[in-house]
Amino acid sequence: MIPMVDLKRQYEEIKEEILRDINEVFESSRYILGPKVKAFEKSLAEFHNVSDAVGVASGTDALNLALKAIGIEREDEVITTPFTFFATVEAILYQGAKPVFVDVEPETFNLDPEKIEQAITKKTKALVVVHLFGHPANMPEIMAIAKRYGLRVIEDCAQAFGASINGKLVGTFGDIGCFSFYPSKNLGACGDGGAVITADSLLAERIRMLRNHGSRGSYIHETVGLNSRLDEIQAAVLNIKLKRIKRYNELRRKKAAYYTDQLSGIVKCPVENKGFYHVYHQYTICSPYRDKIKDYLGRNEISSVVYYPLSLHLQKALSFLGYKEGNFPVSERLSREVLSIPIFPELSEAEQEIICVKIKEALKDGR
Ligand SMILES: *Cc1c(COP(=O)(O)O)cnc(C)c1O
Repeated sequence: MIPMVDLKRQYEEIKEEILRDINEVFESSRYILGPKVKAFEKSLAEFHNVSDAVGVASGTDALNLALKAIGIEREDEVITTPFTFFATVEAILYQGAKPVFVDVEPETFNLDPEKIEQAITKKTKALVVVHLFGHPANMPEIMAIAKRYGLRVIEDCAQAFGASINGKLVGTFGDIGCFSFYPSKNLGACGDGGAVITADSLLAERIRMLRNHGSRGSYIHETVGLNSRLDEIQAAVLNIKLKRIKRYNELRRKKAAYYTDQLSGIVKCPVENKGFYHVYHQYTICSPYRDKIKDYLGRNEISSVVYYPLSLHLQKALSFLGYKEGNFPVSERLSREVLSIPIFPELSEAEQEIICVKIKEALKDGR
């Protein structure tokens, strides 16, 4: 079976360093908010050329803490995309706020800047922008709109570590950038983990307190927060992988170029807008024959996954928001046509060749 991602191959390459540094954590017996987390936060901030990075327990909590830090509360409206992982919207709902969906661009799968203004009301406080599959959303246009209306911007960079627009990294356009280090993400830990980055030291300070029960330590609590810290073992692994992330992303881009070369004209391949640096967390093709391709790949021992099969506005859990079929036609069509195929830095050319041959075979008549 060719898997969507094979984390074992990456581990084999860096095993010695990983085991050495994890052992260091055990030997020091500093498991929470110790030197590994501190070092990682420093490197993460430097990588993005911002003043602050704060390690947290997951990407979902990064979003939760970011929204709380900018003061999102009950009755507020927050604009976001219906074509994303559920956590993006969960975080908005956890503040008691109301998610307001805006349809996406068919080419990039990201928020369509042209449709944002019509969704803004007096209650709108912020936007949560997702850089889906590794292609940056159109931040220059989105930031211009946010500025015009005085809205805060949170970037969900869970799938886009290292992606950029004209050299400017995602996570550095809005007020706060949120990252997930779930093991299969481009920069993945060996368990759950996340982080926020910001150029606003006051916001960083607030998030540092919020992740630790609203306290700077010593059992003095200035506000009510939660327990959401990145742990030392995760940070040990992330320190090792962060040094290699540029190469990992370059390798993903190479695999993507191979697919695009082989599959253009057969299915709709992902685009990369001019000046945008795509990091291909997923390589996602579109075809009206999606299900046929997926079935055929499965029968030939090739994994593929539909990210995402149901637009969020049609999810049962969100039915109380009152959206209906037809509200976001682009997102709805994508959910019927997208298919993500295996991509990861260690995927071999031989494997890619088989995948491409099988996709072509799937679309021949009579199969
Ligand atoms: C993975 C992901 C998250 C959540 O991250 P966790 O670390 O799993 O909590 C949020 N948003 C998007 C777009 C994601 O892909």
